[in-house]
Amino acid sequence: MAIARPVRVLGFAAVVMWFFFIWQVLKPTSPPKHKAKEIIKSFERDPNLDPTGEPEGILVHASEEYAPGPAGTARINATLLALVRNEELNDMLSSMRDLERTWNHKFNYPWTFFNDVPFTEEFKKKTQALTKAECRYELIPKEHWAVPEWINMDLYKESTQILKEKKVQYADMISYHQMCRWNSGLFYHHPALANTQYYWRVEPKVHFFCDVDYDVFRYMQDNNKTYGFTINLYDSPDSIPTLWPETLKFIAEHPEYVHENNAMDWLTDKVRRPDHNKKANGYSTCHFWSNFEIADMSFWRSKAYEDYFNHLDRTGNFFYERWGDAPVHSIGLGLFEDKSRIHWFRDIGYQHIPFFNCPNSPKCKGCVTGRFTDGESFLYREDCRPNWFKFVSQG
Ligand code: GDP
Ligand code: MN
Repeated sequence: MAIARPVRVLGFAAVVMWFFFIWQVLKPTSPPKHKAKEIIKSFERDPNLDPTGEPEGILVHASEEYAPGPAGTARINATLLALVRNEELNDMLSSMRDLERTWNHKFNYPWTFFNDVPFTEEFKKKTQALTKAECRYELIPKEHWAVPEWINMDLYKESTQILKEKKVQYADMISYHQMCRWNSGLFYHHPALANTQYYWRVEPKVHFFCDVDYDVFRYMQDNNKTYGFTINLYDSPDSIPTLWPETLKFIAEHPEYVHENNAMDWLTDKVRRPDHNKKANGYSTCHFWSNFEIADMSFWRSKAYEDYFNHLDRTGNFFYERWGDAPVHSIGLGLFEDKSRIHWFRDIGYQHIPFFNCPNSPKCKGCVTGRFTDGESFLYREDCRPNWFKFVSQG
């Protein structure tokens, strides 16, 4: 039977549209390639594209001396550390699986979990089941977590309303302010850490992609490092308008705390994102993204940093603004520490949504070499690593 021409045309159009629809559904969506590429090109070459091996310096590799329990005589005073809520159990398990698989099953460092409320039995059972290493579950003392008595709650409400209008994330979530303050200046005073020097901070729902075969804590100790990071980002200037002015006041009172080999250039750069510097009143807003940190708590416990934190804390602006622990740690380190003691762990493949550190190494699985984000292309602007590489180092 002959089919009328208009019907044939319609049929053909329907088939074409069907294929187009299927293509729309199945086509690869991330990363947003075209724009992303344009933006990346305007940046310096990403060193993550270069082949990456283990860092230079003294390295201690896995051995029987890292067996769990008392046989593990090679371990130093260090812990994996996670502040986490009971409700985040599944996401915590996912982070633990990755870190145990890529690193800790070879070294068996203890895990220390912190919470402002007691951990549930389920939390304890399921986390301990993922590791041969010891797990410790610690409650944060009230006096470390509670909103300090000098905070005026009416002022808090008013100020955070303004921050909210400026779209500052988590502005009116008081627990977020408490968390940032605790991570900035209190966690290392927890009695459970009194005999611990190094920690590796791990958040729920992060990913680790690359096998790491040396003891990273020994790396820090043996190579005289204070702080290790993977990702360097710009912050929201609206969350910290007075952080830099308060910092300048503090260093005017205490010029002796500023290290001669500081990272002031990196902290105050105004070339790359002039608006950020302006809004943050002189601070570039560049910071180490602190959901990952491997660090020596002796620095946080030093008089310089302690005095700095107390100065900041008395302003109340952990609450009236939304100062994060990332910029506070980063400014403290950038001013009071020798910048050569800050290390980029380029070999540790890492993701906390929406950013990655993804090295070029056969030891990595599951992340795309050099990918910085799998989110929208505008997120590439948040990359501040080129400034660290420019002013400090790629090592
Ligand atoms: P983001 O990474 O800035 O989006 O913030 P997160 O929600 O991931 O919080 C940072 C870290 O603090 C995570 O490890 C959370 O589990 C933890 N955290 C945040 N708020 C609380 C809280 O109120 N109680 C506890 N116990 N942990 C918290
Ligand atoms: Mn997080």
